[in-house]
Amino acid sequence: MTETPHAAPADEQSFLDQAANRCKEHGASLTPIRRHILRLLRRQSGGVKAYDLLEQMKAEHPGATPPTVYRALDFLIDQGLAHKIGRTNQFIACNQQAHDDAGLFLVCPRCGQVTELHDHEASAALKRSLALAGHILVGPEIEISAICRRCQTSL
Ligand SMILES: [Zn+2]
Ligand SMILES: [Zn+2]
Repeated sequence: MTETPHAAPADEQSFLDQAANRCKEHGASLTPIRRHILRLLRRQSGGVKAYDLLEQMKAEHPGATPPTVYRALDFLIDQGLAHKIGRTNQFIACNQQAHDDAGLFLVCPRCGQVTELHDHEASAALKRSLALAGHILVGPEIEISAICRRCQTSL
């Protein structure tokens, strides 16, 4: 993946520290549970389902329940640190420091792998076309069904 000036830090610790700072700037706090969920999300770069996150949480926090996970995910999404992929019901850590632009999410219909793309021109063009058609985007995620590289080799 090519590095962009707005890409989030590659190092996990810096990534999490920067996320904590972003929350602080918004008057919010990245609690240990939220931080843990964000770390798990980031380690599964291709997206993960809430149920699988819960299973992974339980390894360290045996008392974790679905609401624990969903509340933390809602928080991370609110803070712009994570995205929800409606098509596959998965969650993914945002790979940008911030975006004013909608992200393009390539979702593989075969394996569910998700890639977050930031193509300013493509999203701007898409937004213009949407407006011309009389529609407005509902969320910051534009999902595109696209077969991933790995699945292409097994076509
Ligand atoms: Zn993002
Ligand atoms: Zn795939």
